[in-house]
Amino acid sequence: MTLTKKIIIFMLAGAALGLALNFTGLNNNEFMNTYVVGGFLHVIGKLFILSLKMMVVPLVFVSLFCGTTALREPSMLGSIGGRTLMFYLMTTAIALVIALSFATLIGVGQGSEIAPVAYVAKEGKAFVDVILSIIDNPFKAMAEGNMLAIIVFAIILGLSATMAGKAGEDVIDFFKAFNEVIMKMVMLIMHFAPYAVFAILAKVCAELGIGAIQDLAGYFFTVLGLLFFHALVIYPLLLKLLSGLNPVTFLKKMEGAVTFAFGTSSSNATIPVTLRTVTERLGVNRSVASFTIPFGATINMDGTAIMQGVACVFIANLYGVDLTTTQLLTVVLMATMASIGSAGVPSAGLVMLQGVLLQVGLPIEGIGIILGIDRLLDMTRTAVNITGDAAVTCIVAKSQGQFNQAVYDDPEAGVIRE
Ligand code: ASP
Repeated sequence: MTLTKKIIIFMLAGAALGLALNFTGLNNNEFMNTYVVGGFLHVIGKLFILSLKMMVVPLVFVSLFCGTTALREPSMLGSIGGRTLMFYLMTTAIALVIALSFATLIGVGQGSEIAPVAYVAKEGKAFVDVILSIIDNPFKAMAEGNMLAIIVFAIILGLSATMAGKAGEDVIDFFKAFNEVIMKMVMLIMHFAPYAVFAILAKVCAELGIGAIQDLAGYFFTVLGLLFFHALVIYPLLLKLLSGLNPVTFLKKMEGAVTFAFGTSSSNATIPVTLRTVTERLGVNRSVASFTIPFGATINMDGTAIMQGVACVFIANLYGVDLTTTQLLTVVLMATMASIGSAGVPSAGLVMLQGVLLQVGLPIEGIGIILGIDRLLDMTRTAVNITGDAAVTCIVAKSQGQFNQAVYDDPEAGVIRE
């Protein structure tokens, strides 16, 4: 059996257990709540997410360093970077335009009588600070998981190593070996995924149930529908039109990474798996992927943008505000910028939504209303976010001749078996 299949089976079993606990009210039982759901299940799931996070920083640093040194032409970095940034911004803007148009068209939230809920604003990151955080003490950046600063340091170090003659070669050889070891570690940890995903799903479903969705069904299903549309229609179209790749193969091979993203709600924690998927399953050259994947996990969040677009229209309708065209355009601009500024961690999208709402003059208390059901949407939009990173990575790699078509076409390439 493939690992992905096993993960999906365990995920469904976890969801079923969680729903059963919620439905029978067993999760309200003190013992269950403290020791089983909030104890055992919580710890198992959390340990797994922490072990993925443990690998992210060394993995990104080492593999990006090796990727940079392996590029034949250092000037290629510029064109890879430029194209990637352009596509990341483009896909986010497309996501927002579709989300805003659709949500406005169906008038999501109109006529709904949900009572406003108090919401305490959290500190968001200013755009200027995002720019300034690109360069930092590498050890501080690594300790804090500041992905952009790690990316910049790894690239500059990689370029310097290629120019440093014999000393550079020694360092490159060391990190090449280190890279192999880290990839082995990724494989080892991935084998624990089924059990962790079981625990995570059981906990989320036990705590949430499906009752919470009822009041917000309009908002919930609009976001969900648009997320599926983006992943199953927009990315396949872009892949086909811009690179001629078979979209069905792409979606099939993304299955594993998508399940990880869904389980962890974090693009960052999923980096090891996304990186492995695009290189070993989809045939992207490591020099490109080691840059585009961590970069995408940090700045490209199409699923998050979709949620923010719908949330703006929903909150405006709840509070009886008519959004003008200028306000809608502001949402597109602000949400695209916000997606650059936030890290790929759980609920980051909600914190960023504050800035967008403030900018268009909508009440941030609206976030309090959608907070309760955000966890399920967070899981799904994270899956879309990383699918976008992988799609753009394939398009850029193909256009730069850094792509192995035979690997892409081979259904068995990079499959992990139990
Ligand atoms: N959890 C999302 C991610 O990591 C970000 C968000 O929308 O909250 O991609």
